[in-house]
Amino acid sequence: MSFLKNSELHEGGIIRESGNAHDYQTGDWRTFVPEFVEENCIHCMFCWIYCPDSAIEIDTSGDKPIMKGIILEHCKGCGICALECPPAKKGKSALVMVREEK
Ligand code: SF4
Ligand code: SF4
Repeated sequence: MSFLKNSELHEGGIIRESGNAHDYQTGDWRTFVPEFVEENCIHCMFCWIYCPDSAIEIDTSGDKPIMKGIILEHCKGCGICALECPPAKKGKSALVMVREEK
């Protein structure tokens, strides 16, 4: 997969086409990153619905979609997924924001 370089972005950062999140590598913007704790996941897909980028990896090959993890090239660390992830397993959520070590 190839991404657009800074020099190839439109002036002013204007996005001229919708649905183009896959073309941009926004992962290096982050300070915090979601940590996926798989055993707490109930595969409700809230994270996939609310993620403003295309950073939630899901497997749709079965009867129900399965949350697989975070696509770090696209995750900009906004934390919306962790906010929406329900604390469904004994009060524990499957997504927790942690400071990223760089
Ligand atoms: S919102 Fe949380 S529980 Fe729901 S699929 Fe995403 S990680 Fe799993
Ligand atoms: S932190 Fe934001 S961009 Fe990253 S996976 Fe969660 S909702 Fe998507």
